[in-house]
Amino acid sequence: MRRGAARALSALAASLDPTTDGDQLTGLATRGTLMRHLERLLERGEHPAILYVDLDDFKLVNDTLGHAAGDELLRHIAGEMARLLGPGDMIARQGGDEFALVLPSAGDAPALAGRLRTAITAPVSVRGVQLQVGGSIGIAVAPGDGLDASSLLEAADGAMYQAKVGGRDQIRRAADSVTRDRQRDRAALTLTASLPAAIARDELRLHWQPIVEVDGLTIIGLEALVRWEHPERGLLYPGQFLPFAETSGMIHAVDGWVASAVARQRVEWRMRGLDPYVGFNLSPQFARLPGSLDPLLERLTSGGLSLDRVTVELTESVALGEDGRLLSFLHGLANAGVTVSLDDFGRAYSSLDRLRDVPAKWIKLDRAFLDRVQEDASATDVLFAILELVRALKLKLIVEGVENPEQLEVLRSHGALTGAQGFLLGRPAPAAALEQRLRESSRSRLLPADGHAGEARAAAADTSSTGAGSSAEPVAG
Ligand code: C2E
Ligand code: CA
Ligand code: CA
Repeated sequence: MRRGAARALSALAASLDPTTDGDQLTGLATRGTLMRHLERLLERGEHPAILYVDLDDFKLVNDTLGHAAGDELLRHIAGEMARLLGPGDMIARQGGDEFALVLPSAGDAPALAGRLRTAITAPVSVRGVQLQVGGSIGIAVAPGDGLDASSLLEAADGAMYQAKVGGRDQIRRAADSVTRDRQRDRAALTLTASLPAAIARDELRLHWQPIVEVDGLTIIGLEALVRWEHPERGLLYPGQFLPFAETSGMIHAVDGWVASAVARQRVEWRMRGLDPYVGFNLSPQFARLPGSLDPLLERLTSGGLSLDRVTVELTESVALGEDGRLLSFLHGLANAGVTVSLDDFGRAYSSLDRLRDVPAKWIKLDRAFLDRVQEDASATDVLFAILELVRALKLKLIVEGVENPEQLEVLRSHGALTGAQGFLLGRPAPAAALEQRLRESSRSRLLPADGHAGEARAAAADTSSTGAGSSAEPVAG
């Protein structure tokens, strides 16, 4: 007896507890309950399906007949949908006129979606008024392992949205690739959100990739490439965390960190008798930010460094656009003595005559050009034509993406080339791993101001003499 009473009491408590099951209006499960259910299925390695249902024209009912009528219609449709569920299925109200269903077995999804739509669109009398609404339904199926519940829900929501824009009252299934993309985007977004903390914990690193002259392969410069030494996920590449950083504004923190890290590394190199020409990448977002130039120059010149061996790489498509703010940023850089370099040249087909407006001295040819050279003889002609053009404009050209000796041979057969970069010529690596190669390159050695070879350390310590030799053009034309 006492036992039965206790059970009844706890059931009552559960029914009053807002954290447990139950949407107040419809009596369906809540979004939270549905998500936990979905998570459990995914953890068990099952391939559940999500159906995302959004009523069409429900707002019209609310607006014309009032909220009480709207509520009644919602309750009715919720009940009709719930009656269609099979064992193990769950339905929840997501809020408003949106519902989500979880099916443990994906194969049942299309048939159920059809029955749901029939139930939703059946005419119903509410307060004496005959009503009929439609339903747009999106389906997403967990394509494989490792998918999280939120990504699956978002994919179904996205498919529902496609159904809506496709003319309403339809059923759409998200392609598995889209569902995977959602998963990837979500993971990248979560990763990006922890970037500021990662910067504070000093988890970003610079790797340096050699830029070499094609005949002797000596280093004429280095490009700084950012990496993230993630405590759990290991070394992460820019493609894994920069795209979302660019859309969320966090890129400013990354680019600022990179500029400071470049300066710190230069100071260290100079203390070791080295002074290589260095380039680093800036996002267009950073360049467009009002007032970003002066703090950047401050970072780059900290420790008394001069700017004549520094290149900023900016993507060509952006730099050549009709973007006044960006152009003035580039002119500001150039006026301060920084070399401006157009990155990924030829990836976008910007107008060549814009080249005259941009204060760029270096062009970095996108590696797509070299990719094509081996398969296609006319690609070589295009490459050589670009080399001629760049020479006519008195710019210096770096070809990116040299991966094999055949490509290098093609480049060597043409005299006008300034430099080349690619895995064959040197993979990006931490500074320490490049030290020996830098010492072998006369262009990368620090020339002490007092002319005493081997006393570079003293010269470096004297920050007012930032290397007499360093003002010489580092790159042969
Ligand atoms: P990018 O500026 O074009 O840099 C060259 C990229 O190509 C690097 O990838 C490099 O590792 C890769 N690469 C070099 N040689 C070869 C080759 O022979 N074959 C192939 N397939 N790839 C090669 P990474 O480091 O993953 O960087 C990707 C992009 O991320 C960079 O392209 C740049 O746009 C951006 N990025 C890198 N570091 C920074 C940074 O500090 N700030 C900003 N804003 N963007 C950065
Ligand atoms: Ca670059
Ligand atoms: Ca590039």
